[in-house]
Amino acid sequence: MKTIYLRRAFKNRCPRCGEGKVLKDIYSREENCSSCALEYNRENGFFLGGVPVNYGLVCTFWIVPWLTVYFFGIVPVVLVVVMSILGAIAFTYLGYAYCQCLWLGLYFCFAEHEMPLLAEPVENR
Ligand SMILES: [Zn+2]
Repeated sequence: MKTIYLRRAFKNRCPRCGEGKVLKDIYSREENCSSCALEYNRENGFFLGGVPVNYGLVCTFWIVPWLTVYFFGIVPVVLVVVMSILGAIAFTYLGYAYCQCLWLGLYFCFAEHEMPLLAEPVENR
């Protein structure tokens, strides 16, 4: 497992070279790396892997905290349901492209043998 690919994806950088950006803006991503020309899309439907990444992050960092404060009786159930639904919609809309970027890093982290090699090696950044 090569975590450098995931660390580069966290910083919105190409998993292979660490130079080019993966995301154009908050809603869209580049097709290829501007530095090493790595094609980000591995196959049709590849970036659907961003869905479970987004789901996991929204559940972990939004839904579960709301359920926790409800469990301790701090907020009423109506507020928990409304905030969970609103947050799930908003964070899915705002974070889906970034989760696709994280998926790209996760994919190469666990499937490092599928990473096309560079002509010259890049040092760990
Ligand atoms: Zn690159």
